[in-house]
Amino acid sequence: MSSIFTKIISGEIPAYKVAENDDFLAFLDINPNAKGHTLCIPKKEINKIFEMEEEHYLKLMKFSREVAIALEKAIPCKRIGMAVVGLEVPHVHVHLIPLQEMDDMRFSKKEKLTPEEFVEVADAIKSKL
Ligand code: 5GP
Repeated sequence: MSSIFTKIISGEIPAYKVAENDDFLAFLDINPNAKGHTLCIPKKEINKIFEMEEEHYLKLMKFSREVAIALEKAIPCKRIGMAVVGLEVPHVHVHLIPLQEMDDMRFSKKEKLTPEEFVEVADAIKSKL
């Protein structure tokens, strides 16, 4: 069965996309720790990040860095935190989280955004890429 993120790639499930190329996609986390919380994923469905081929993994890091730089320009924050977990969705994803405090890296802390706010945040990040 396809992962929920594969369904986002195919357009079966909607997402607030911020960046895309042939191999990778970045979109806003639907249940963000903080405003601007973004997920960077490979289009190829792979369960665990360290199962990726080295070159593919390095390309994901390059893509994530580009998105993180734009994210830091778009969302007021002290810095961008990065995490890889994957306990909920078994499809590689890099969490990029604008940080104000250490608690923003706790996945129990959640921010509520309206659909309009999600669009605004996605547009702000895209404008800095
Ligand atoms: P993890 O697998 O790293 O524990 O967490 C998965 C992350 O994906 C969570 O932060 C969760 O909010 C996010 N997520 C789960 N389902 C969806 C979805 O359908 N759309 C989006 N945009 N994010 C999702």
